[in-house]
Amino acid sequence: MQTTMMDVPLSLNHLLERAGRLFAGNEIVSRLPDKSLRRHTYGEFHRRTRALASALQRLGLKKGERVATLCWNHHAHLECYFGIPAAGGVMHTLNLRLSADEIGWIAGHAQDRFLVVDDVLLPLYRQFAQLHSFERVFVFPFSGQTVPDGLDDYEALLADADPDGFEYAPHDEDDPVAMCYTSGTTGRPKGVAYSHRSTVLHTLVASLGDFWGLRGTDVVLPVTPMFHANSWGMPYGAVMMGVKMVFPGPHLHPDDLLDLIRQEPPTLSLGVPTIWMGLIQAYEASLAEGSPNHGRWTLPRGMRSLVGGAAVPEALIRAFDRHGIWILQGWGMTETSPVCTISYPRAELRDADDDERYRRAALAGVPVPLVDLRVRGEDGADQPWDGRSVGEIQVRGPFITGSYHAVPVEAGKFTGDGWLRTGDVASVDPLGFVRITDRTKDLIKSGGEWISSVDLENAVMGHPAVAEAAVIAIPDAKWGERPLACVVKKPGQSLAAQDLDAHLLGKGFAKWQLPDRYEWIDAVPRTSTGKFWKLKLREKYAR
Ligand code: ADP
Repeated sequence: MQTTMMDVPLSLNHLLERAGRLFAGNEIVSRLPDKSLRRHTYGEFHRRTRALASALQRLGLKKGERVATLCWNHHAHLECYFGIPAAGGVMHTLNLRLSADEIGWIAGHAQDRFLVVDDVLLPLYRQFAQLHSFERVFVFPFSGQTVPDGLDDYEALLADADPDGFEYAPHDEDDPVAMCYTSGTTGRPKGVAYSHRSTVLHTLVASLGDFWGLRGTDVVLPVTPMFHANSWGMPYGAVMMGVKMVFPGPHLHPDDLLDLIRQEPPTLSLGVPTIWMGLIQAYEASLAEGSPNHGRWTLPRGMRSLVGGAAVPEALIRAFDRHGIWILQGWGMTETSPVCTISYPRAELRDADDDERYRRAALAGVPVPLVDLRVRGEDGADQPWDGRSVGEIQVRGPFITGSYHAVPVEAGKFTGDGWLRTGDVASVDPLGFVRITDRTKDLIKSGGEWISSVDLENAVMGHPAVAEAAVIAIPDAKWGERPLACVVKKPGQSLAAQDLDAHLLGKGFAKWQLPDRYEWIDAVPRTSTGKFWKLKLREKYAR
């Protein structure tokens, strides 16, 4: 007998049907390779997504089978987000920034049956095609090229399908809908599978007012790639609320993003810090009289910007706030769907002054509902939430992964009592604000004392002449390890080690915490998800 509520599974299909019924007139905009904009309604999205699901079923896609995507951010990728699960399959986003060998290895490991690929990415596909054989390859004519012989046309697939006669594959809420591989910065990439249930719960939590605060009137610009932790889950939230999406396609250069922002002003955007660093520098340079871009761009005042995936320097938050844009920092990982913490103004901070508001915004934030978070010291003891005691962050919750796809559970990744070990080192203060000091592998231990590379690089980036900076540990005969700062100067600026030392001392760093050395570099290397790639710097300098 039913004793409490109805036993209705949480399902992405509900979000898709809701969007078709309620938001059919709302808009989805995609920037094409030639930079023109393609406009699309949620009504078309609903119909085309059902057509895709119907076609996949007709091709015999079985429950739980993977369909890979190798695509930029655009409307057809959104169709895959919902159409593949609607047919009972699992959408597996391949990261197009990885090397061809890595992509091929991942597709093979995931045993992807079909592939949806942008025509502009066919040269990349060809480089790994021999490593994994997809049964069918559907080419999305993103740039309008004719689909080569031997491959299938995504548009023809949809045109031949019957969206009206389509019936959803029966499913449980725990069935998988999507899959992402971790970027593998710490070993072979590992697959994380998200379920209907985890995705819906994550979407509901992340959409809350203090976090994404999704509103029907929002215009969302997802710069975070749809292959990077599902663009942090935003596509699901956008469809849930029918908000207008503006997909940037392949054009992620700051000038291109600023052009798009001028054309289709967003109210909400998301991306890793390096994206916004480039964007604000280009924008501020354009304000100078005599700049070739003078007057070309405006930033939409009042826009909220979700920034995460790496520590967000306070200087960046202040810079955007000068133009009326507020940055909300979040912390999470592929394994956690990803949103685990978000920095937002809690009630206790209502009367906080500006410095305090900025200081808080530069923290990783407060755990969101349904995520349990604890910090464990080296001795395995829970650390007090005193804002000082540091340890590894461990998390648990209904949208945190419980295992990895097709690999034995590594003892080191989960604790005996079932919490995920994140490998991030942090403290938590009495208000619950998490402060990430490092990844375990980035820690600097000097003479028995930890130095936070994140604190140092953020402070260096607060210097007005610095464009970007990353701090790494280098071996030292006397102290074990010492910090080295790799610094990129802003164009035309001169800067010496003494200037940065003085700046850091002024920010409260002790003398022994200052970098031993500064390397002046042209750019900080980036990972496949656009973050600072300290491993590359260590390979070069930490010998
Ligand atoms: P990868 O960085 O390996 O590509 P993810 O995208 O899953 O993989 O990144 C997760 C990691 O990113 C976290 O474990 C953490 O180290 C880092 N990270 C994410 N958000 C933040 C943040 N707000 N501050 C500092 N580090 C962050």
